[in-house]
This record gives sequence, structure tokens and C-alpha cells, in this order.
Amino acid sequence: MSQVSQQTAYDDNNIFAKMLNGDIPYHKVYEDDKTLAFMDIMPQAEGHVLVIPKQKAVDLADLEPEYAAAVLMTCKKIMQAQRQVFKREGIIQMQLNGSEAGQTVFHYHVHLIPSSIHELGKHAIKMANQDELAEQAQQLAAIINA
Ligand code: AMP
Repeated sequence: MSQVSQQTAYDDNNIFAKMLNGDIPYHKVYEDDKTLAFMDIMPQAEGHVLVIPKQKAVDLADLEPEYAAAVLMTCKKIMQAQRQVFKREGIIQMQLNGSEAGQTVFHYHVHLIPSSIHELGKHAIKMANQDELAEQAQQLAAIINA
């Protein structure tokens, strides 16, 4: 029998819920009525962005179709902007379901990482420089909103 602990109920105090409530700061890239995108604070590569739904979903199993569609459309916008800002053609779209898979924040989110799969850095290890994240968020937002 697996010893992996499983998160089943949505925790209203998870870090992304706090962002959605405006309780903690973050580097916003894009927002609409169903999604929010921001810089990952411990990026696996330069320009690592997270896209979340404004729905209380722990993982993919909980995600409602309208939010799934909205997240994907936001991912497209972010990816196109990442290609321009970071001059990379390769953008990895990653999404972890459950602690066994490596999920650490239990509010559904998609990682968009400008990188090659062969050079991808470690997950959630090293804190980024806040000024650099702020600048990257601004560069991406400027392209998306142009
Ligand atoms: P996962 O392990 O797939 O659940 O990914 C969670 C991601 O959230 C990791 O890549 C973390 O670096 C990122 N993260 C955690 N806290 C914050 C935060 N306060 N702001 C931005 N990203 C965060």
C-alpha cells in the first residue's frame, strides 16, 4: 500500500488562495475574470510563470471545464510573450497532481518554463531576485497588453 499522503480537501489558507485574496504580494503578469498568472518565486529557469484558475481546485481532478479552458487560453498568451521576452522557442508546460508527483501547493496551477527538457533546473529550490522578477513580469505584461 502506498505511504504517500494525499491532499483531498481544498485549504483556503494555501499560498495561492492568499494571493487571490490579495493577502500576500506577488509579481503579476496577467489577470482576467477566471485566471491569474504570476512569476514563480523559485524559478526552474529564467521567466518561469505560474497560471492559476480563480476556482478552488486542488488538482486537475477538481478543475471545472470553463476554468480549464480559461487557464489554457491564458497559458497561450503567456507562452507567446515568454518567447518574445526570453528569446526562447522552447516553453515547457508542466502541471503536477498530488504530492507523489511533486505538487507542493494544493491549488491547481500550470507551470510555463522557458527551457529545454534537457537543461531544466530543480523544482522549487532557489529563491529568485525580487527586482528581476518584477522586471520580467512587467516585460511580459507589456507584450500581453499591447
Ligand atoms: P508545485 O510543486 O507544482 O505545487 O509548484 C508550486 C510552485 O509554487 C513552485 O514552483 C514554487 O516555487 C512556487 N511558489 C511557492 N510559493 C510561491 C510564491 N509565494 N510566489 C510565487 N511562486 C511560489
